[in-house]
Amino acid sequence: MANPEQARLDPNAKAALRAKYLLERDKRLRADGNNQYVEIKQNFEQFLTDPHTPIAERAPVTDHVTFTFIGGGFAGLVTGARLKEQGIGDVRIVEKGGDFGGTWYWNRYPGAQCDTASFVYMPLLEETGHMPTEKYAHGPEILAHCQRIGQQFKLYDQALFHTEVTDLKWLDRAQCWQITTQRGDCFTSQFVGMGTGPLHVPKLPGIPGLGDFKGKAFHTSRWDYQYTGGDANGAPMTNLQNKRVAIIGTGATSVQCVPHLAKSCETLYVFQRTPSSVDVRNNQPTDAEWFKTIATPGWQQRWLENFTSNQTGGMASEDLVMDGWTDLSRRIQARIRSLPETERTPQGMMAAWEDSDYEKMNEIRARVDEIVADPKTAEGLKAWYRQLCKRPCFHDDYLDSFNEPGTHLIHTDGAGVERITETGLVANGVTYDVDCIIYASGFEVGTEHKRRAGFDLTGRDGEKLSDHWADGMKTLHGTHVHGFPNAFIVQPTQGANLISNVPHNLTESGQTIALTVRHTLDQGQQEVEVTEAAEAAWIEILLSGPGRMIGSQDCTPGYYNNEGIEPGPGAKFHVGYPHGALAYFEYLKKWRSDGQFNGLCFRGKPDDVNAG
Ligand code: NDP
Repeated sequence: MANPEQARLDPNAKAALRAKYLLERDKRLRADGNNQYVEIKQNFEQFLTDPHTPIAERAPVTDHVTFTFIGGGFAGLVTGARLKEQGIGDVRIVEKGGDFGGTWYWNRYPGAQCDTASFVYMPLLEETGHMPTEKYAHGPEILAHCQRIGQQFKLYDQALFHTEVTDLKWLDRAQCWQITTQRGDCFTSQFVGMGTGPLHVPKLPGIPGLGDFKGKAFHTSRWDYQYTGGDANGAPMTNLQNKRVAIIGTGATSVQCVPHLAKSCETLYVFQRTPSSVDVRNNQPTDAEWFKTIATPGWQQRWLENFTSNQTGGMASEDLVMDGWTDLSRRIQARIRSLPETERTPQGMMAAWEDSDYEKMNEIRARVDEIVADPKTAEGLKAWYRQLCKRPCFHDDYLDSFNEPGTHLIHTDGAGVERITETGLVANGVTYDVDCIIYASGFEVGTEHKRRAGFDLTGRDGEKLSDHWADGMKTLHGTHVHGFPNAFIVQPTQGANLISNVPHNLTESGQTIALTVRHTLDQGQQEVEVTEAAEAAWIEILLSGPGRMIGSQDCTPGYYNNEGIEPGPGAKFHVGYPHGALAYFEYLKKWRSDGQFNGLCFRGKPDDVNAG
């Protein structure tokens, strides 16, 4: 960790870095922002086919259940588990994939691995008794853990897989939701939860000639092992031995799969528009004896709170996780604490943060020179932006892949791939003929919510959620929306907004929803809804904070800053609790435990007198 007494960076060096960062950003800014990407559903539906599980025929479902959750990833699993713990027997998860797992169901590319330490990333470890085998578990283990949660909490019993919700409508008289799917299902549910995830709709880059390529092509989230050979556990992809392969994109996904491709392909071209910052990973197998010493009752909650505290400026004296994420934030805090009293102004603190950022990024750039033998390739792999402009990456083999004789970095200096032809790709004016193109081009972010979800909600009196949110998202806790009774949204925004460990947001939310549903039923009520006043008061609290901490327009474009396009007035609502994630979780715990559920109103059946 940095020495807090360390001298400030030379002002000239800082000014030069600032100028270099803006120059690199300007090379990449483009007027079409998110529209540069192609919506797969409309144009290339073959890219969405599930390569993992055949679709099983079944009759349409037309019954009634107490709780339906849309999305079978971590959000659905943890909420479902907590509901079961609260004695809610009939919980139905509706999932577009062929099993539970969400992102871990789809993303089975070689090398897929969690980026946040397993001990805090994998939910319900204590409840399931699972010991992660590595500090950063690989995809198959995380997928198996999702299935374990599904089995243990009997969530398979009523689940509908390969099923996509097409409509979700509140029935005022029946006081429940009607759910329609693409499989012909039409059933009702007293409550609904939604956890469709922020990154689940793959996108393709809008490169001219995209449809012309006659060879093999797939997106990383639909990896085709039949073509490549090998498997998600890392078996060598022997079918690529005599193949020329191109991968487009160098984000977090590419950083994890390139080392495997580099070992397998005859020739690998890595087409890079913007380099990722790639820090040390330092993965280790878990020592079972050590694990026994930490896994005492309540251990995962302690680890979660410690990680979140270290991440968000809390006062935790120890750092249990000790990794790249906590190093990043502890360095910033150490810099700020080392400031003399007179300099602890907002500007002084922002300058200390900038110092810490420059120092960290200089280390990351120096690491490229240490590992990559060819100086030109090394130069191309250096990230010229502040750390949180793009998703930080961590890997111990990625940079070394570029020392493999068959692996070539095609650095396009911000321009991207120019064209795709019948036989290959063109970049920097050079044609590269290949057998296979792998799109590591990411997922839709910032497109319309209903486009990504595949449905809009119709709430009380026929109001659409998209209309309720026309000027920006409005909720209580990111979960409850006025006019949409008995509906719960599970995601981080307007709650803790903890980005470095998304599952922590989800487990807290799942617990809160389960207690809210339990309370509704125990009181003999039919409906629960946030009042208009409580929703407005929560928004006021959110807007009293410092605003968005990531997404600066000074950054090189990416999905963190809406591809460099001013995101409009609604973006100011994409914030979390102003006092930080840890304070939010403490607040939420009190809120759900005191039995008051302040801000919610409960209603019975129409002839009940205790409505309101
Ligand atoms: P990203 O959106 O991060 O990356 C897409 C890549 O495609 C970028 O490098 C982008 O370049 C590049 N690209 C886009 N258009 C072109 C073009 N025309 N020519 C050349 N390159 C192009 O997607 P990922 O799938 O890598 O990651 C998405 C997110 O998923 C991550 O940010 C992370 O949150 C999550 N993730 C998490 C992991 C984990 O926790 N273990 C692992 C993997 C992903 P440019 O940067 O210039 O836009």
